[in-house]
Amino acid sequence: MAYKIEQDMENCIGCGACVSICPENWEMNKDGKAKPKKIKISDKEFDKNKQAEEICPVNVIKIKKA
Ligand code: SF4
Repeated sequence: MAYKIEQDMENCIGCGACVSICPENWEMNKDGKAKPKKIKISDKEFDKNKQAEEICPVNVIKIKKA
């Protein structure tokens, strides 16, 4: 199974929680917003990215089946 990450970057508040919990796939951009390094992720990468989705205080990360 593959998954696709959607992020409403406009509404990211730049708290950095996703980067802290999943540095493998999340980083801060120069505007102080988070962005995923990869949009398409595998099963293996799902759990950590799911934690990023769950920890985001403004729910702007959505992980969907690709
Ligand atoms: S956890 Fe959510 S609000 Fe915080 S930096 Fe990541 S995407 Fe932005």
